[in-house]
Amino acid sequence: MVIAIDGPAGAGKSTVARAAAERLGFAYLDTGAMYRAVAVATLAGGGPPAAWAQELKVLEGSRYVVDGREVTGEIRTTVAAEEASRIASDPALRRALVERQRALMADGDWVAEGRDIGTVVAPDAALKVFLTASAAERAARRAAELGADLRVVLADQTLRDEQDSRREHSPLHAAEGAVELDTSGRTVDEVVSEIVRLAGDAER
Ligand code: C5P
Repeated sequence: MVIAIDGPAGAGKSTVARAAAERLGFAYLDTGAMYRAVAVATLAGGGPPAAWAQELKVLEGSRYVVDGREVTGEIRTTVAAEEASRIASDPALRRALVERQRALMADGDWVAEGRDIGTVVAPDAALKVFLTASAAERAARRAAELGADLRVVLADQTLRDEQDSRREHSPLHAAEGAVELDTSGRTVDEVVSEIVRLAGDAER
């Protein structure tokens, strides 16, 4: 079974998806990390992003090796996030990564997280969840997580939201049949419990 978790930056996708996977005993796929890893490789080595996508290795679900180098730490920087958002509009890159993601999820039970899981990568997912939260709350969470200035994070988030929702290929929107969950003012545990309940319903 595949559970697709989509939503804008800072809605709590990563935290919620990881915790839901753990609670359900499912594997976890962080597609944003794949875009970030390709971004790091593109920044370091140049060349077409799609070529790095072919080369990318995902180890133990959470370590990323590209061009023979582990980039797991580097992908969490603002520079990597910005470059990821920029190259994410490249259709050749999207095709290459979507293909990799579908191959990974062909077997077993997965909680997959990313902006196009429910719409493009796994439109037949048993459960699709679209997480949202107010812009202020999303920025506040990310600022706390990164130990960064709230105004800087809010400006960065506004730019990324705009880039992600305006782009021609896989713009950010809720998938057909997705359950929208507003995480504002709710704890991770509350949101995860709701997803586990929905997953139980989806299985019946
Ligand atoms: O989710 P995360 O912040 O790690 O994603 C980094 C960037 O990668 C996003 O801003 C988005 O532009 C891009 N991305 C995407 N499609 C996905 C996952 C991430 O376009 N499935």
